[in-house]
Amino acid sequence: MAAKIPTVRFNNGLSCPILGLGTWQSNPGEVTRAVGEAIDIGYRHIDCAHLYFNEKEVGEAIKEKINQGIVKRSKSFITSKIWNTYHRPDLVEKAVKISLSDLGLDYLDLYLIHWPMAYKVRRSDPFPSDANGKVIYSDVDYVDTWRAMEKLVEKGLVKSIGVSNFNSVQLTRILNAATIKPVTNQVECHPYLNQSKLFNFCVERGVTLTAYNPLGSPQRPWAQPGDPSLLEDPKVLAIAKRLNKSPAQVLIRYQIDRGIIVIPKSVTKSRIAENFHVWDFALTKEDIKSINSLDCNGRLIPQAEGREHKDHPFANPDIIF
Ligand code: NDP
Repeated sequence: MAAKIPTVRFNNGLSCPILGLGTWQSNPGEVTRAVGEAIDIGYRHIDCAHLYFNEKEVGEAIKEKINQGIVKRSKSFITSKIWNTYHRPDLVEKAVKISLSDLGLDYLDLYLIHWPMAYKVRRSDPFPSDANGKVIYSDVDYVDTWRAMEKLVEKGLVKSIGVSNFNSVQLTRILNAATIKPVTNQVECHPYLNQSKLFNFCVERGVTLTAYNPLGSPQRPWAQPGDPSLLEDPKVLAIAKRLNKSPAQVLIRYQIDRGIIVIPKSVTKSRIAENFHVWDFALTKEDIKSINSLDCNGRLIPQAEGREHKDHPFANPDIIF
């Protein structure tokens, strides 16, 4: 029997399983199998996005497991994200309906603004670019996008709404304008960028943090040979050895012990299982201290191509978190 997954409570009273399965770069040809295996193992939270170009295949697995009676829709937690080209308020409902149709669902548990930056709309091109290959920006304000996101909750298309890749100033603007508060900010978070300031900032405002890249995203497309590897970091390896756990399990447990929702990605059955079996141990205060000492502003997803965008979350040196 699968372990019962602890949950994190949102500011709207709803709950989210603290551990979920990521699906970025899970190829359409393998993700149906991987999500199906994950649900068999006990995962109930799947992190998706329109931009991952695999929501149809993720949806096939969810449908199959519901039909097999392995999981009920009401016991599953499915997230998707609105891409930068759909920020215009009149396009927000269209965007969620595309994800719902692809996933084969009639509601999402959580819908996030994927990035604060809006891009120009040009057909269905996710990265509309000019003759020099530079992405064409739009000046749509993410606060206006947020107001349209709130309508999705009122219409029953999504249960909760949140943001992703928002810095503290951007999150504050949303909180000041919101009728419905964001429930989470999904951001890059791992020992090399442990986000302790942003985490505290969010907690004080009743917003949870969700950690992406928890294992250091070794398959990120721009990784270079010789880049530091979290899964091989000596401090992580030492803790893993002492506890007789894998480095990935230590990195996942690090987030769970902090109360941060964590969404490691894998399409490998043995790793999907390994990443889920993190309930029979906890890190000591010394372990957490040792892992915290690795923090070095080591950002893996700098979103380099949009740095001149007025709403780029990491490009302004005056905004430190
Ligand atoms: P992760 O840190 O989760 O690392 C995933 C990689 O680690 C894959 O290459 C996987 O390989 C490998 N891996 C998984 N488990 C193990 C293990 N036990 N031992 C060794 N290697 C392992 O990176 P992601 O970038 O995928 O981040 C997680 C999720 O966060 C994404 O999938 C996505 O859902 C979300 N995300 C959100 C973003 C946003 O802007 N909101 C940005 C980036 C990610 P394999 O699959 O081959 O097993």
